[in-house]
Amino acid sequence: MFKKIHIRLTVLFTAISMLIMIAMSAFYIVLDYKNLYINAMYVFENNLSTLTVNFENKSSISYNMLMNFQNSYKYMFYVYDNDIPFQFTTDTKTKEQLEFIEVFKKQYHEKNSKKMEKAFKAVHDQTIYKNGKEQYYAGIILIPGHKSDTEIYIIYPLDSLKRQFRNLLLRFVMIILFTTIALFVFSWFFTRRLLRPIHENQQSQARFIAAASYEIRNPVNTISSALNAMGKADESQRQEFIKIAKNESKRLSLLTTDLLMLARSDSHSFSVSFNTADLATIILESYEAFFLPAREKKISLSVELPEDSLIADNIDSERIKEVLAILLDNAISYTDEGGRIIIRCSQTAKEFILDVIDNGIGIDAADKQNIFERFYRADKSRENNSHFGLGLCIAKEIIKLHNGHIEVRDTKGGGSTFRITLFK
Ligand code: ADP
Repeated sequence: MFKKIHIRLTVLFTAISMLIMIAMSAFYIVLDYKNLYINAMYVFENNLSTLTVNFENKSSISYNMLMNFQNSYKYMFYVYDNDIPFQFTTDTKTKEQLEFIEVFKKQYHEKNSKKMEKAFKAVHDQTIYKNGKEQYYAGIILIPGHKSDTEIYIIYPLDSLKRQFRNLLLRFVMIILFTTIALFVFSWFFTRRLLRPIHENQQSQARFIAAASYEIRNPVNTISSALNAMGKADESQRQEFIKIAKNESKRLSLLTTDLLMLARSDSHSFSVSFNTADLATIILESYEAFFLPAREKKISLSVELPEDSLIADNIDSERIKEVLAILLDNAISYTDEGGRIIIRCSQTAKEFILDVIDNGIGIDAADKQNIFERFYRADKSRENNSHFGLGLCIAKEIIKLHNGHIEVRDTKGGGSTFRITLFK
């Protein structure tokens, strides 16, 4: 599914960027197309004026000079002296070109008979000449002489402008093509990076659901087997099965409460109500709640509090009690008989530090990184019915809501110490 979304997003991103690029290029090309013709006409007019002055100042027009002009301007020069073509004209033009200029001459003189009246100095005129589909800029220079007048026709086929424009278009197409490929590659990696956290999140959700289903399946199966067996059992066995079903449903209820808590935390609807509370009271109440279970396992449970007051603003005392309950429940579970557990609280100017110290089985370095993850149990062989591997991650969520942090370290001489830091 993610591969499909990845491809779709890449294509969409590339296509949108390409469309924007094409629209911008088209706008630029249209402007450039107009400018190309305007500029060419402007240059043609300027050249015509320069040439007129040039020709006027030269007493004679040589073959070489005309050849140079023709080559450097890429214009076609037709020179007539008293309507007789120069040798340059007959030598450098084909029969078709000579016929072409004759037609132009005739048409031009018919339409513009007055424009180029005999003058005492060189004059010029220009026009746009259309012959079928072909278009030309055409210029006429008239140089009056003593015996005869010289007429120079300068023809510039706009074909070359079209070619220039086509080249420009081709360059744009190439640029768009290369940019599209580059954009595709870029967006491929970019969208992959963008989708990675969503993908990882989805995978972790899937893992969570799989693990939750697995955990729910066990008590449900046990309850179902107990109910089935109850039908065939005698009275004393029936009581035993009822006890099993009751225990398992209690376990199921605990599990669903934990799952609900995590789901709420995921959807940011985990409710906390911050108040001013005395940490010493919270600790002593937790101590009282776990005193009996600890004593049953012959574990000594004690509290170490500083003399100064431990009033904390902005804490949810019920949630902090929940965290302490998780840590104390774990400490009792993972500490062997005869062990000891200390709940210690201290404070600095900026923070409260709450330690739950045990001298139990301890946690391997490799496991320390994972114990705050959902359904992670470091020692699976010690599987306890009410331990699903969710406690520490719930504790972490609660502490996160308090903007504090929770960490685990080894107790000197063996065991684990869980440290909660709450900022004042
Ligand atoms: P569980 O409900 O299984 O205790 P937790 O999230 O509370 O789940 O703890 C995760 C794992 O971390 C436990 O399965 C256990 O392996 C380890 N652990 C937690 N607390 C202790 C402790 N005080 N001593 C040793 N191991 C612990």
